[in-house]
Amino acid sequence: MISFAFTDEQEAFKTTLRDFAQNELAPGYPDRAAKADFPFDVQKQLGELGVLGIGLPEEFGGTGDEDPILLGLAAETLAYGDVNVASAPALLGLVGSQLAKGSREVQEKYLPGLIAGEITAAIALTEPGSGSDASALRAVARPVSGGYRLSGEKTAISLACSAAVTLVYAREPGSARSRGVTGFAVPMDAEGVTVHHMPGMGCLPLGWGSIHFDDVFVPESAVIGDPGKGFQAVMNHFDFSRAALGVMCLGAAQASLDEAARYATVRETFGKKISEHQGVSFQLAEQATYLEAARWLCYRALWLRETGQPHTALASMSKWWPPMVAKDAIEAAMRIHGNLGYATEFPLQQRYRDVMAYLVADGTAEIQKQIIAKELLARTAG
Ligand SMILES: Cc1cc2nc3c(=O)[nH]c(=O)nc-3n(C[C@H](O)[C@H](O)[C@H](O)COP(=O)(O)OP(=O)(O)OC[C@H]3O[C@@H](n4cnc5c(N)ncnc54)[C@H](O)[C@@H]3O)c2cc1C
Repeated sequence: MISFAFTDEQEAFKTTLRDFAQNELAPGYPDRAAKADFPFDVQKQLGELGVLGIGLPEEFGGTGDEDPILLGLAAETLAYGDVNVASAPALLGLVGSQLAKGSREVQEKYLPGLIAGEITAAIALTEPGSGSDASALRAVARPVSGGYRLSGEKTAISLACSAAVTLVYAREPGSARSRGVTGFAVPMDAEGVTVHHMPGMGCLPLGWGSIHFDDVFVPESAVIGDPGKGFQAVMNHFDFSRAALGVMCLGAAQASLDEAARYATVRETFGKKISEHQGVSFQLAEQATYLEAARWLCYRALWLRETGQPHTALASMSKWWPPMVAKDAIEAAMRIHGNLGYATEFPLQQRYRDVMAYLVADGTAEIQKQIIAKELLARTAG
């Protein structure tokens, strides 16, 4: 018999984070979401709650081994209060776990501050000419005495405006596609680094932007993982950040659906509560069903990761469908609120704009479906 239960420890962590999300995060969400300032005060609170060290080395304040389910639970639960704040464990899980594979110098310089919430780290793979086709990246790392010189432009980078360090992917001169790509930990105050803020329709506090590298020197110690194997490493990490981002979007959708259910029991039309109109109650029922199905898809992908089983296709399923389900549920919640759903005084429209980001970030639906189809077709052909 299989079990869908979380452990006692996971349940306790979830309870702590649920209280924090509802009492501390939710009231300030609209104000934070309206500004392009990274909320370091909240990030430090996340550090104190142990959210930022999930799966990162214990010696720097982390929990130790990779813990995909706990990471997913943290992202989902925090998103109930503030979906932008909730991206912290997923983003740090993606970047921090790779920095942990860097030199001792890189680990000591960045991991304690990241885990405590004092600094942030970005990951820069996308370029103006390569997003979905990520292995077409053109940024170059030229070997020089004592290190490398990096040149190129990265675009659409979350946390570009607040990061102390960015994990940058660049290729050795003359290499092509996924070969010869290496990850480098580049301090954002290095000479030759410039950042341009690119405000989006949501996720403003994440300080989205492009980063230019103009012959930036980095020492040998900045290399992360095996030189030339950076592309494979980042793809492997996407396999769990994708499911964590999927379930995070569902947390924001659940908050919206709960608000819609509460509203439906007080708003009256034609002499009865709108929850008594089947046109409304069936919408709530349908969206609740989709959220439940999408949620377990994400946790199954995270569980496969945790138990060391193949999970690439499920991670891609968790990235294309749950954010779509979340967006549709938030939209339904907005419609159930009538004109109030459109009003900026309520958080629904803000959540809609924030969640929309994850239809593209970390790979679009079309790219996820390609990955799923490739595995499915290989399996049926074999
Ligand atoms: C909010 C946000 C945050 C982001 N944060 C980061 C970050 O921190 N770091 C980072 O490196 N990147 C980041 N990105 C970039 C993101 O990963 C890319 O935008 C994404 O991979 C798509 O690339 P693109 O924008 O170049 O679109 P393109 O690759 O140009 O795609 C355009 C359209 O064509 C479709 N398409 C492309 N190829 C195919 C195909 N073979 N078959 C079918 N359809 C196809 C796509 O699905 C899309 O609809 C972020 C993006 C957003 C929106």
